[in-house]
Amino acid sequence: MNEIPNSAQATDQARTHTLERWLNNPRVSGLPIRDASLPAPLLSFEFFPPRTEALETQLWACIRRLEPLQPRFVSVTYGAGGTTQARTHATVARIVAETSLTPAAHLTCVGATREEVDAVARSYWEAGVRHIVALRGDAPPGASYAPHPGGYAYAADLVAGLRRIGDFEISVAAYPETHPTALSPQDDLDTLKRKLDAGATRAISQYFFDPELFLRFLDRCGAAGITAPVVPGIMPVSNFAQAKKFSDMCGASVPHWLEKLFEGLDDDAETRRMVAAFAAAEQVRLLQANGIDEFHFYTLNRPDLTYAIAHILGVRPASPGTASAG
Ligand SMILES: Cc1cc2nc3c(=O)[nH]c(=O)nc-3n(C[C@H](O)[C@H](O)[C@H](O)COP(=O)(O)OP(=O)(O)OC[C@H]3O[C@@H](n4cnc5c(N)ncnc54)[C@H](O)[C@@H]3O)c2cc1C
Repeated sequence: MNEIPNSAQATDQARTHTLERWLNNPRVSGLPIRDASLPAPLLSFEFFPPRTEALETQLWACIRRLEPLQPRFVSVTYGAGGTTQARTHATVARIVAETSLTPAAHLTCVGATREEVDAVARSYWEAGVRHIVALRGDAPPGASYAPHPGGYAYAADLVAGLRRIGDFEISVAAYPETHPTALSPQDDLDTLKRKLDAGATRAISQYFFDPELFLRFLDRCGAAGITAPVVPGIMPVSNFAQAKKFSDMCGASVPHWLEKLFEGLDDDAETRRMVAAFAAAEQVRLLQANGIDEFHFYTLNRPDLTYAIAHILGVRPASPGTASAG
């Protein structure tokens, strides 16, 4: 009869295997050691406009904490269907008036006439805002998108309209895993190219978790003749259940390994945050090792994870009085 090894014997066998593997397998150095000559990457941060006074306080604490990192710009989202028009404008105007930051205002064209959208864009220009993130926006939940009869039909049309209003810097959205309603990945890439050809200067990507997905997307952008910067959107995740729900809606895949990382941590917010910083730092370092030198962070108006990851990337707060890098 074969003897079942006791746990000490099993551990010994495992040790032997570990040693054998170490002695015989190819050795890898893991993530590259940071090269001191490698410049810190450029960062940008996304916020959403606050709905309540408490959220306003939280947003401004977030802005003040991240401001010394001298992001290239900070952007403020536009609620679905333009529902936050006044709050987005107020937040962006306050950033212009009270901080050293360069704001970018998100602007969508869904459900509005060209005149209405143009008026919002002009009001940004008059407030000193020179960067717009131009988006189509989405139909209300349950409905499918239909262009407004008197409106800009798609983001590419909005970009062309903005170009006529002022010499804005214009960023547009890109989808490493393809927009959920695109006819095909190639069709989606054609849409991106149209937006850039219409005058956008940069694409910011939907968030993704697997660095490989983004790098393959860059390959496809290159093959399609896209030359503008495509900046990866990074979403540090500390609430897995919420991220899963949101990702299902916007077409971002959630890898099994991410789910495993948060397994058993539902009631342990502190460990979740540490795990979140680790997971996102690994993701961005791998991208950085592949030459990516600009990152856009979806902060969700919470600064700590973004701050920690920026630190790992080599970004340090400027001492007071230092000129902005932007
Ligand atoms: C970085 C980023 C920031 C965002 N910020 C906001 C925000 O602040 N507020 C908000 O409401 N939403 C925001 N979104 C979400 C965005 O509005 C949705 O993803 C929306 O569904 C698509 O917007 P788009 O600008 O990519 O659209 P488009 O580039 O216009 O394309 C989206 C889809 O429309 C179709 N399409 C495009 N052109 C044509 C054409 N000529 N003919 C037929 N079909 C066409 C294609 O299916 C295409 O995949 C953001 C997304 C990203 C990635």
